[in-house]
Amino acid sequence: MELYDHIIAETRARLSGMTARRWDYDETSAWRDMGASELVLLRDAAFELGGSGKPSANFTCVTTDERLVPRDEVLLCGRDLTELQGDVPFARLAFLLSDGIGDDEAAYQAIRDMEFVKYHVFPEGYMVRVSSESNREQVRVSRRALARGVSFRAVGAAYIRGFHKNPHVRRAQLIFVTDDGAAVAELARTAKKVDGVTRTLTRILEGIPADCGSCSLKPVCDEVEGMRELHFGMRRKEAAT
Ligand code: SF4
Repeated sequence: MELYDHIIAETRARLSGMTARRWDYDETSAWRDMGASELVLLRDAAFELGGSGKPSANFTCVTTDERLVPRDEVLLCGRDLTELQGDVPFARLAFLLSDGIGDDEAAYQAIRDMEFVKYHVFPEGYMVRVSSESNREQVRVSRRALARGVSFRAVGAAYIRGFHKNPHVRRAQLIFVTDDGAAVAELARTAKKVDGVTRTLTRILEGIPADCGSCSLKPVCDEVEGMRELHFGMRRKEAAT
């Protein structure tokens, strides 16, 4: 699965110019998961990541290239939760190394399952609101969680633990970006591209005709290595059966 590789590589290159803190994944450091969505009332909140209309972005990319996700780890570009004093721009990215899930419908379903983890991690005192239309992720952090020492390391570990419940995930890299509004706005544009890849994949698997000349998805296929091969490969397979 190489469809997201160029996005991962470009994003990593872009973030390499920022100072980052890095932690190897340690399951014992994972923040407590409530198992279900928890309401953090405004009066109990210390701040909101991506709140007050500040830029926010969220996306997940899957690859089978080991070099792109060398280990389970959490990266933070910007200030940590206990260092923040108010609402800030915010991005959370997940890069997942999967096993050889192939390029067919099963692969697509596996990708969707991996993506859905973001709706099933509920760190205590860390209320996440995700908008799949705008790719925004806004998080209300409670004062209580801050007093208990919540950190991106611990929240990132909770996400990695969640991703590892999916048997297709071999490694997960979680990246948090705070403060830098321009970088987050750029990541929001990248999130749209990721969405474009996933939507194109969906349409191909729905069985649209393989006619690039009249296809509205051509801009995505022109940019994404492997997409065209995927579609024509599927057509060849169908013709052979
Ligand atoms: S390969 Fe061609 S027909 Fe298929 S989705 Fe891409 S542009 Fe459309």
